[in-house]
Amino acid sequence: MSLTELSIQELQAGYQKRDFTVSEVVAEYLKQIDSHDKELGAYLSVWRDEAAAAARELDKKIIGGLEPTGLVGVPMAVKDVLTTEQGVTTAGSKMLAHYRAPYNATAVDKLIQAGVIVLGKTNCDEFAMGSSGENSAFFPTKNPWNKTKVPGGSSSGSAVAVAARLCRAALGTDTGGSIRQPASFSGVVGLKPTYGRVSRYGLIAMTSSLDQVGPLSATVAEAATVLKAIAGLDFKDATSRNKTVPDYNDKLNHSLKGLTVGLPQEFFGKGLSRGSKQVLEKATQTLGELGLKIKHVNLPKSVYGLAAYYIIAPSEISANMARFDGLRFGESTEDRKLFNHYLNTRGRWLGKEVKRRIILGTYVLSAGYYDAYYRQAVKVRQLINQEFSNIFKEVDILACPTTPTVAFSLGEKTADPMAMYLADVNTVPVNIAGLPAISVPAGLYDGLPVGLQLIGAPWEEVKILQVAHQFERARGPWHLPA
Ligand code: GLN
Repeated sequence: MSLTELSIQELQAGYQKRDFTVSEVVAEYLKQIDSHDKELGAYLSVWRDEAAAAARELDKKIIGGLEPTGLVGVPMAVKDVLTTEQGVTTAGSKMLAHYRAPYNATAVDKLIQAGVIVLGKTNCDEFAMGSSGENSAFFPTKNPWNKTKVPGGSSSGSAVAVAARLCRAALGTDTGGSIRQPASFSGVVGLKPTYGRVSRYGLIAMTSSLDQVGPLSATVAEAATVLKAIAGLDFKDATSRNKTVPDYNDKLNHSLKGLTVGLPQEFFGKGLSRGSKQVLEKATQTLGELGLKIKHVNLPKSVYGLAAYYIIAPSEISANMARFDGLRFGESTEDRKLFNHYLNTRGRWLGKEVKRRIILGTYVLSAGYYDAYYRQAVKVRQLINQEFSNIFKEVDILACPTTPTVAFSLGEKTADPMAMYLADVNTVPVNIAGLPAISVPAGLYDGLPVGLQLIGAPWEEVKILQVAHQFERARGPWHLPA
């Protein structure tokens, strides 16, 4: 069996028994990247020499008595919107093609401190704006289950790197679904933590009031291990919160008896494809067999989530993108006239989707339109929050499809932004309310993965991880694409 088949827990056991070394594991992953990544396009940069050197160092420490536990010697990848001292941080944009960050993002630092070997930076939609990976300014990422399909986005490279065993786990970011949606399309586990659970320091901001960093992995237990390592208060991010970080792995097998799961009817209605529906009906039946009480519920306001998102997100994007002007950050032209300089740098190095959102955001925030659009969207956000808090008085978690359809074809939606935006209709309301949610593979339709989304009340990652873990076991063994 290849070393790339081993879970984080199995890697630790092997290191403990001296069955293999970290250097051997890292070499195996680098070989896998060499054989497959040309075709898949998951990585923007591979830290070959640095990873091998870090592995050698770790092997010495293990021989010297370091106990291999947690994430020691686990090869991981990092979405290229998170800053790293090593190499360039591009955010998938030509604007930052040569940008070297002065510090590591907190989540990255925590992983390195925990003994993770970072293999490289993964491809993504430009500045995390997109649902298919096709907005990367460099090249699109392909779905390993079927290379004519998109892998989902914007954490496209992270999802594919895990699915194709080009790393054991990866970091992604989720503003409106960018961890869960590619996890669903690529057949892996993706977890978006509660807003404030993980520091955003060093995350290139897209929509500051929605962005969260989280793990993508092959199994739920691995997502729990990574979350434990990256979660917690960070004084460098004023929105990170001082909440106890539980030992998620210890609790995964606790009994689910007495828990109620709500099935929001709005997420199972029209728009949900027939194939996905079949797989998800079976999945909800499995939840019942696990001892959960099933309750049909309604979330009528959540259907306005997407509309509110496409006002709030572009508004914050238009502000956050202002720093990429070739003076403070980014590529720069030789123009001497300031106005031309702005037009030419931003005109030349920002992609179409990024420009669309800057223009939309600037428009909805302008005098006269602010009240009509932005203020209304903020009100809708409040109503959606309220609706979720009410529902969590009746149920412990919610279960629904992560996405309305399985992965679509490359090029299918690039000409139609509205159709593209609809890929996130089930994930966006969760960000609007700042809730934790996980996508876990439920089955295949037409040879493509279907994801089950479990949503929790704020700070209750434990519950969704428990249910996801026990669901994963009941569903039966999952395989990654051949
Ligand atoms: N696909 C959504 C968008 O384009 C969400 C992106 C994200 O979560 N980063 O805005």
